[in-house]
Amino acid sequence: MQEVRIPKKHLTEILDIANEWTVTNGVSFKAGIEGSENEKVTHAPYTLFPSQVPTPIFEQARQSMTEFSRVMHKVANDHSFLSRCLKNVIEVDPFMIGLWNIYLKVREAGIKQSLMLGIFRNDFMMTFKEGCKPGEIVKAEDLDLKHIEINVISASFGGLVEQLAKLHKLTLNLCGKQHSIIEMPENRPATGIANGLIQAWKLYNNSQAVILFLVDGKENNTIDQRWIEFKIYEQNPGVRVLRRTFIDFHERGSLSNEEKLMIDELEIAVVYFRDGETAENYRSEKEWNGRLIIELSAAIKSPCIQYQLMGSKKVQQELARPGVLEKFVASKETIDMLRATFADQFSLDLGSEGDKAVDMALASPEKFVLKPQREGGGHNLFDADMVNFLSEHRNSNERNAYILMQRIYPWQQQNYLVKPGFPVNLSDVVSELGIYGIFIGSSTKELENYDCGHLMKTKTSGTNNSGVVSGLAGLDTAFIY
Ligand code: ADP
Ligand code: MG
Ligand code: MG
Repeated sequence: MQEVRIPKKHLTEILDIANEWTVTNGVSFKAGIEGSENEKVTHAPYTLFPSQVPTPIFEQARQSMTEFSRVMHKVANDHSFLSRCLKNVIEVDPFMIGLWNIYLKVREAGIKQSLMLGIFRNDFMMTFKEGCKPGEIVKAEDLDLKHIEINVISASFGGLVEQLAKLHKLTLNLCGKQHSIIEMPENRPATGIANGLIQAWKLYNNSQAVILFLVDGKENNTIDQRWIEFKIYEQNPGVRVLRRTFIDFHERGSLSNEEKLMIDELEIAVVYFRDGETAENYRSEKEWNGRLIIELSAAIKSPCIQYQLMGSKKVQQELARPGVLEKFVASKETIDMLRATFADQFSLDLGSEGDKAVDMALASPEKFVLKPQREGGGHNLFDADMVNFLSEHRNSNERNAYILMQRIYPWQQQNYLVKPGFPVNLSDVVSELGIYGIFIGSSTKELENYDCGHLMKTKTSGTNNSGVVSGLAGLDTAFIY
């Protein structure tokens, strides 16, 4: 896997096969209005070959997943910690205020469902250790694994990447590269996510109740969601899956006996959110009201409102403070393992600590990233944008809505990024490694906790923000050596 440069003629042949394969096997996006003449399916952006990850680094990411899920579940159940972390953010950020108000209403009404279902993806970057001069083959010892973020709501691409993993075995074969089961392991996040949803459905314990995918209704990443639905039918043909929007709940959703979530005369056992992660998803009070009805119910939600708050960048920044992990984890070994992956993070809250962080960022902007409480890529500020924002908001509590994070410069590799409508060339690329994890528990017990496959998100080197749906990055998998 070291050398992926291939002659032009052979590349065209492999690309032809790969592009047909992706559409045939659902590594795809849908565009246009469903059922209309302009509805079309295109392949999602992807890399022609997997990207390299040394075995110990891959194992470190995988092993930290279950430990991190356990910590984050505890964080979500700690009201005073959540309140402390988010106190200053909810002074200024309307989106976070919206979520916080729902949380308060749920607490006031009494929590009707003690079980929480986490469908998480923990994202990392690999970066060279300071002063490291790697040889031709990069070794695990050369690299640090750095945590970028945990995704708690709408952690997507499990469906597409389970398919892409099969394509990557084929493309390696097509250019004569042998690979073993260790190098290209089973990678089945959609299957693992579907299993988590079915386990939650069973725990709800009403065979007539359904699993509901809460969707936007207009996005292009529906095939990814459908894969999870199909895996549910495969694993348990008796379960019915519905797709509805926030607006549907606003218009027709209800709570029977004050707690059973109902829509169109069906009882909902589990709600899987594939919408609602970011401010733009709530266009009016109607969407907020739809969300509130769901949150007030006894349905098992992935995520529940506490989980979504816990997944904010602000909570992750507070968790990275010295001594805070200790509050949630007893084992020194686990603390060390998790902390080793944390990048430096700083509060920007108005006050002297935040002032210092602003000064640091203005003095060396290339060393930092400015992150708001948003999801889905494309919201972070880098370089001049960061400098402008911090200079303008030097004395404003608007800066409370952001955190500052050490900027990671990831290991650069070469790959072919295949995007519809763009020429395909061997380019310098950088990747993010995401590990999927499923967690089910209440405030007192843990019922499920497993990792289930991975995703690499790969973009052209030098691109700041990322995002597969926005076309900045492509889907990828790991070649583990
Ligand atoms: P989101 O929830 O919007 O995906 P992320 O924290 O993942 O937020 O940031 C979006 C993108 O910005 C990442 O995929 C990565 O490309 C880039 N990014 C985020 N944090 C860092 C960092 N500390 N160093 C370098 N790049 C980063
Ligand atoms: Mg995210
Ligand atoms: Mg991200």
